[in-house]
Amino acid sequence: MKIIMLGAPGAGKGTQAKMIAEKYSIPHVSTGDIFRANIKNGTDLGKEAKSYMDKGELVPDELTVRILLDRVAQEDCKNGYVLDGFPRTIPQAEVLQSELNKQGTDVDFAINVDVPDENIIKRMSGRRACVTCGATYHIEHVPPKTEGICDKCGSELILRDDDKEETVKNRLSVYHDQTQPLIDFYSAKGVLKNVDGTVDMMDVFNAITNILG
Ligand code: ADP
Ligand code: ADP
Ligand code: ZN
Repeated sequence: MKIIMLGAPGAGKGTQAKMIAEKYSIPHVSTGDIFRANIKNGTDLGKEAKSYMDKGELVPDELTVRILLDRVAQEDCKNGYVLDGFPRTIPQAEVLQSELNKQGTDVDFAINVDVPDENIIKRMSGRRACVTCGATYHIEHVPPKTEGICDKCGSELILRDDDKEETVKNRLSVYHDQTQPLIDFYSAKGVLKNVDGTVDMMDVFNAITNILG
């Protein structure tokens, strides 16, 4: 099963993608996580990506597409995957599409997690991310058992540099300009499914599993 998560930054794509990956035994592929791992390890890719991410801008398509195609070519992606944060532009979606066509396969579902802009800013200021394993929490909605500490691995939780309010505003405007058009792209292909992302995360997940079967 090949699934794409669509939605604004902070809509809950990562939260849902992790649960989908577990339930359907497919890898969770997040371009944001790949970039952050590279930043942490000080790679050249990480240095380049960081210069865009810190401003709330998109990493250029050419670089992003290369990273993503490398990742989905790996053995564990053979039976499908859930893409979180990719594609984010029409050219990215077109490259993915032509790659899948070459392999005689296709996207099965594009799930749009719908959350209005008003809710996003609040969500992001409360988001906390694990520096080691990438798990995400929310200080009000999804608190860790011990404040500031990851439940899964015991590492420190941080507010991402790009989750500061000014950067979030820029990311939202980039989302509306460049990513939202993908809703029409996947709708035209007949694979778009909308879910209400403003409800409790388990209710969002139930709506998604009803769609995926
Ligand atoms: P969020 O989970 O809040 O949507 P991500 O972790 O997916 O954020 O992405 C963080 C940043 O990484 C983005 O703001 C962008 O700079 C970069 N990024 C991630 N995925 C892509 C992509 N597909 N194309 C371009 N840039 C990307
Ligand atoms: P995205 O990957 O789309 O950027 P995340 O999954 O990281 O979004 O979620 C953004 C923030 O909102 C996180 O702090 C997360 O814990 C929280 N969150 C996720 N889903 C919900 C929900 N249904 N209700 C309230 N908060 C949520
Ligand atoms: Zn952790």
